[in-house]
Amino acid sequence: MGTDCVYCGEVATGRDHFLPVSASVLLRALSIDIDDRCLVTLPACKECNTLAGARVFRTVAGKRRYIKRTLAKRNAKVLALRDWDQDELEELGWTLRTTIISGMHKRDQIKRRLAWLPASDVEKTLSRIDIGSGSARNLAAWDGMSRKRA
Ligand SMILES: [Zn+2]
Repeated sequence: MGTDCVYCGEVATGRDHFLPVSASVLLRALSIDIDDRCLVTLPACKECNTLAGARVFRTVAGKRRYIKRTLAKRNAKVLALRDWDQDELEELGWTLRTTIISGMHKRDQIKRRLAWLPASDVEKTLSRIDIGSGSARNLAAWDGMSRKRA
């Protein structure tokens, strides 16, 4: 069995640098100390890894909240899809029927990911990863600059 993505519970396909590589490179270049705990990589699915991008978060919980918010926004239409019953579906042509059925599957999958939280022992371990207020200030400034550039 695969490992859960720490952000959404899907099967992890890779590892997410909790502190983006670009940020740790910059901090090193500026000789700013960072706690080793920030340099961990965490199991993540491809989509969550991409959604967080190069943004800096102080805690794993904060990063998860951001990813879930973005996931919900990105899938707003799918999430609004209502349930269609068997009779209604049978009235539809094949193309529309399969589109709606796959939409409902996707909706349920997104809902599951939004509701997901890791087992409490894992969550306890993750909650110890905190980049600290000093690094957070430096990184917030850097993060602001990198967003303007993007
Ligand atoms: Zn994920």
